[in-house]
Amino acid sequence: MNTPLGVILIVFGALAGAVVGSFAEVVRSRGWRGALHGRSRCDGCRRELRWFELVPFLSYSVQRGRCRTCGSRIGAAVLLAEIAGAAVGAVAVLVGLGLSAR
Ligand SMILES: [Zn+2]
Repeated sequence: MNTPLGVILIVFGALAGAVVGSFAEVVRSRGWRGALHGRSRCDGCRRELRWFELVPFLSYSVQRGRCRTCGSRIGAAVLLAEIAGAAVGAVAVLVGLGLSAR
C-alpha cells in the first residue's frame, strides 16, 4: 500500500476530486448552462479567468482568494468544494486500493 504508486494514485484521485468539486460548485452557483458554456469569470469585474487562475488550491493560495485585477474576493465556497472533492477522490482511491489488495 505505501508504495510510490499508491501515493501517486491517491494524489491523482485527490486532484481529480478537486476538479470535480470545483465544477460542482460552478454548477451550483451558475447552473448547468453557465457551467458548460463560456469560461469562468470574476464575479467582481467580469474579467475572463485564465487557465492558471483556475488551478485548484494553487491559484487560490497564490492570489490569496482574490481576483488579480479588481481584488474582489473569490468565494470560499469554491475552495471548500475543491477540498471536499479532493477528500472524496482520495478516499475513493484508498478504498479502491484496499479492495484490490485483498
Ligand atoms: Zn475581478
